[in-house]
Amino acid sequence: MAQTKVLVSGAGGFIGHHLVKRLKREGYWVRGTDLKYPEYEPSPADEFEILDMRRWDNCLQATRGVEETFALAADMGGMGFISKFHAQILHNNLLISTHTLEAARVNGVKRYLFTSSACVYPEYKQTETNIKPLKEEDAYPAQPQDAYGWEKLVTEHLCQHYRETYGIETHVVRFHNMFGPLGKWEGGREKAPAALCRKIAVAKLKGEKSIEIWGDGEQTRSFCYVDDTVEGILSLMRSDFPGPINLGQDRMVSINELADIIMKTAGVKLEKKHVAGALGVRGRNSDNTLVKKVLGWEPKVSLEEGLARTYTWIEGQVQARLDAGKPIDG
Ligand code: NAD
Repeated sequence: MAQTKVLVSGAGGFIGHHLVKRLKREGYWVRGTDLKYPEYEPSPADEFEILDMRRWDNCLQATRGVEETFALAADMGGMGFISKFHAQILHNNLLISTHTLEAARVNGVKRYLFTSSACVYPEYKQTETNIKPLKEEDAYPAQPQDAYGWEKLVTEHLCQHYRETYGIETHVVRFHNMFGPLGKWEGGREKAPAALCRKIAVAKLKGEKSIEIWGDGEQTRSFCYVDDTVEGILSLMRSDFPGPINLGQDRMVSINELADIIMKTAGVKLEKKHVAGALGVRGRNSDNTLVKKVLGWEPKVSLEEGLARTYTWIEGQVQARLDAGKPIDG
């Protein structure tokens, strides 16, 4: 049987790189594109092209000759990043998403998966720490979080209209805080689990007594391990369900609890110093009724296990940096 040819855009990024590895294990022919190669290990993609996907000509090049496109490229980061660079994020991500989808259509791509975000959910439904898990229809009336969330919501609609108008099989998944090894852990774009692993690793290895936590640490989220994420993405692409559909853990924890779990893994007990920082919404959790029903998907890796794997990797990164006498950016 001929190999299915697929494009993964954003293949130099965290989830994109994990997805390429899984697709290669399953026998696909994979083209990866990104502004950069994966930072921590080489990509196993059959072809890896450095392309700025804001540009139409690059999107045409990227989507040539493939049956499926996993559209993961985005200008993104953790709260500190997405709550600050609104103009840049909206401009870049609108161009990336619009040009990638249109190029896929022009090149006859059959199946297309767009990675949306829990940031599409309205801020007014996330004002308490102990909130009701968010169902897909809760996205309306719309008031997404930040410019980042607005672009995701608009592109969800673009996917729906392309499916209805042109027959391209679009699928939309809404991620809820994915984490795992091989993701950014310093520099300003890292998300809460990686940032906390770094802070705890630095404190442990340097013998410090405390770490800083943004806000009172009582803000809540759910966190999903990257292997479960990749499983969910593949399962959605194989289904005939257009989405949007939640993908995430439905176990809600506070940032303080997240820090406690990581400290337990690290074998340290540090004081939490609460400082000013970007916080995002007060509480958020995923309602997984739809994803269980439609895809039979449930996260398999517990938060503790996922954090243990992630912490071990990040502590190794921190240790290597300290051994080399090089600074840590964060
Ligand atoms: P990531 O930042 O690690 O990966 C995104 C990749 O896109 C990066 O490697 C980046 O270089 C690339 N990119 C940015 N601008 C580009 C451009 N102009 N041309 C080509 N490539 C460009 O992020 P991730 O966590 O792997 O996220 C993947 C996708 O999932 C993104 O669309 C993101 O918005 C979405 N998402 C992720 C999460 C999460 O928790 N990680 C949550 C919600 C949604």
